Amino acid sequence: MPETPEAILEVRGLVKYYPLTRGILFKKQVGAVKAVDGVDFTLRAGETLGIVGESGCGKSTVAKLLVHLERPTAGSISYKGEDISKLSGKALKAVRRNIQMVFQDPYTSLNPRMTVGDIIGEPYEIHPEVAPKGDRRRKVQDLLDVVGLNPEYINRYPHQFSGGQRQRIGIARGLALQPEIIVADEPVSALDVSVQAQVVNLLDRLQSEFRLSYLFIAHDLSIVRHISDRVGVMYLGRIVELGTDTEIYEHPTHPYTQALLSAVPVPDPDARAHRERIILTGDVPSPAAIPSGCRFRTRCWKAQERCTIEVPLLAVPETFRLQTGPAAHPSACHFASEKQVVPPDGTLQPPPNPPQLR
Ligand code: ADP
Ligand code: MG
Repeated sequence: MPETPEAILEVRGLVKYYPLTRGILFKKQVGAVKAVDGVDFTLRAGETLGIVGESGCGKSTVAKLLVHLERPTAGSISYKGEDISKLSGKALKAVRRNIQMVFQDPYTSLNPRMTVGDIIGEPYEIHPEVAPKGDRRRKVQDLLDVVGLNPEYINRYPHQFSGGQRQRIGIARGLALQPEIIVADEPVSALDVSVQAQVVNLLDRLQSEFRLSYLFIAHDLSIVRHISDRVGVMYLGRIVELGTDTEIYEHPTHPYTQALLSAVPVPDPDARAHRERIILTGDVPSPAAIPSGCRFRTRCWKAQERCTIEVPLLAVPETFRLQTGPAAHPSACHFASEKQVVPPDGTLQPPPNPPQLR
């Protein structure tokens, strides 16, 4: 990677609201599901940006917005400096080729009635310029080889493959148009733990081979650690902490990141004994009723009155601004620069009565 890698994708103020309607004949909008509620990040050429958060935090919606499976309610997505979020027709088609998606579930994302060759070659129907008809079979066989599958399997059907092999097929399809960016939405979550690492390693190898940039989505911090250069932690439609591997894993400053990390299994029993446990109670609140102020406050053990009123922005905490060091990275918490106080029993729990808006 170059020293100051250029931005290949810049996301600013990205918002996706799904209208909540009542009534059958006369649909009336009664609210909105705020699936993505103001997301900013930059993907640099050649890097892997991990996006992590519990289920329902809006990760897949971000992925769909990036590959134009959904249209944003607001905000911009710039690819090499050009806002592509409002493109349509030919211009959109040309850009879409460069940003491809690998889906979460290789069991449902591959059409069971199509052969592997037809699945992988399907993108060429939309972009025949990439591979003329006479050339396609050979291209697909190349792709099978590239993802570690026998090119002779070209006429087989998805059900004849294991989960890991199916995800390799999904990856081959994602590569067919020679994209620059791959948005991988939980690409190993549906796989057995034993094959997860193999697929992650494959993605890692393909990245250097084809100079790809990855947005790698996961609900588990441990999976993205190996592959990510930087990680963004998402909660209820927003990125709440963003930093390098060391910043996020060794010096997390947002209580939500700290809670997610405390749930990651630690193999070393010594290290395990020394780490405080943080209990995250309750579920993620509904994105149709996001708490006022800090959206994490209803589950946060640090929450105070201020958190019900003031929205914390994703920024480097004030006290760290003049310093360098791993704690000085953007975090959307009013208390990000405070040292964490661990109670005597070693557990951190949300206050029994989380502050309510008066
Ligand atoms: P994640 O991938 O992090 O689990 P999603 O992006 O799939 O989260 O979903 C975020 C929120 O948006 C969820 O509450 C989900 O129910 C809601 N959502 C997603 N897609 C739609 C849709 N098409 N219509 C209404 N709500 C949706
Ligand atoms: Mg998802």
